[in-house]
Amino acid sequence: MNFDRSKRLFEEGQKNLVGAVNSPVRAYKSVGGTPLFIKKAKGSKIIDVDNNQYIDLVLSYGPMILGHRPKKIEKSIVKALKNGYTFGATSAGEIELAKIICDAFPSMDKVRFVNSGTEAVLSALRLARAFTNKNKIIKFSGCYHGHTDALLVAAGSGLATLSLPGSSGVPKEAVQNTLIAEYNNIEKVKNHINKHDDIAAVILEPITGNMGVIVPSPEFISELRRITKEKGILIIADEVMTGFRSKFGGAQELIDLEADITCLGKVIGGGFPVGAYGARNEIMEMVAPLGDMYQAGTLSGNPIAMASGIATLKELKKQNPFDTFNKVAEKIETILKEAAKENNIALQVNRFGSMINPFFSKNRVVDFETAQTSDTEKFKTFFWSMIQNGVFLPPSQFEAWFLSTALSNKDLKIIEKAIYAAMQAIDQHHNS
Ligand SMILES: *Cc1c(COP(=O)(O)O)cnc(C)c1O
Repeated sequence: MNFDRSKRLFEEGQKNLVGAVNSPVRAYKSVGGTPLFIKKAKGSKIIDVDNNQYIDLVLSYGPMILGHRPKKIEKSIVKALKNGYTFGATSAGEIELAKIICDAFPSMDKVRFVNSGTEAVLSALRLARAFTNKNKIIKFSGCYHGHTDALLVAAGSGLATLSLPGSSGVPKEAVQNTLIAEYNNIEKVKNHINKHDDIAAVILEPITGNMGVIVPSPEFISELRRITKEKGILIIADEVMTGFRSKFGGAQELIDLEADITCLGKVIGGGFPVGAYGARNEIMEMVAPLGDMYQAGTLSGNPIAMASGIATLKELKKQNPFDTFNKVAEKIETILKEAAKENNIALQVNRFGSMINPFFSKNRVVDFETAQTSDTEKFKTFFWSMIQNGVFLPPSQFEAWFLSTALSNKDLKIIEKAIYAAMQAIDQHHNS
């Protein structure tokens, strides 16, 4: 496999783009080597600038749940394009997408559209603080909620448990109201709640994807809801990744989480920049122009993005692929485990719906700390072998793989073959 053009673009891009990327994970630092530059994508496949073709299990980190450029979606987008790109006034598509979303989420009466998941989360924090008149936020180490200052702490970095900014440029003051707890562990949450009376909200990924896939225990979720309710603390379900991924609606229902505020992104834009936050009327009526919590956006509710989101969600509802996703994910899990066993490799596989994650670890992965026991060197070998065998994966041990409805049985065979080859490569390089 030849990566010459990708290599050239990676060098050329360094001059005027920071690290030749617009989002750090795309630089492939955790797997080494040259990042792939993409030329185009169609259906289940993605093609790089050297014309190498891969089965895409990144799907732009989730949004392309129907695969790339499905005909129907493309048609809706082109139709919208012809009416204009942005108006600075509300258009009917915004109302339509809002209705689809609110109908799918019992916890939401109203939504507000923004342009990214980050923006949804930072607005949700402001809203939780406005509604409760309190300041502190509990966040779980390893959960990622976008790059807003207040939550760039223990965001999948090594700074877990200390309230230290996970990035330079974030003032101490910006994170001093952020309290860190461990996912799947209710004790630390209880300690925080007993110690502080100024807690506005707990924010969590209902199923994590940003430290790899981790499913919370039912007891953790029910206790979390019980104690927060008792103290008037809101729960913010960050469903930017999980929204419309494992059911038509939220993972919150699948895990019996009664959320107060929900954040969305990724799938709801079908590949265009859309985020949203929503809640029951009582909470959303705090937001301007109904209330005095200010939040705005020049391109929010962009008509092209709305058309893409509406078409994607309608088609998703029609196809209802969620049972199939479970079966395909189960099949991939079986393949991963058997291939690992055959090659004497310690492996855990976590999955939920259409999100799946192998961890190169002998420990069960239930939180950030156990996720960190994964052998990232093995993942590197695995990643590049998968690429060589035609499967495009997120370039990190700690990112979920995603399934799309475009995946065929033939694609699955390619994935299976690639997994066996990759496990053999690990056996050769790492088992001695
Ligand atoms: C992707 C993601 C975000 C950030 O969304 P952007 O659109 O990248 O700003 C926030 N929360 C979760 C859970 C995510 O997966």
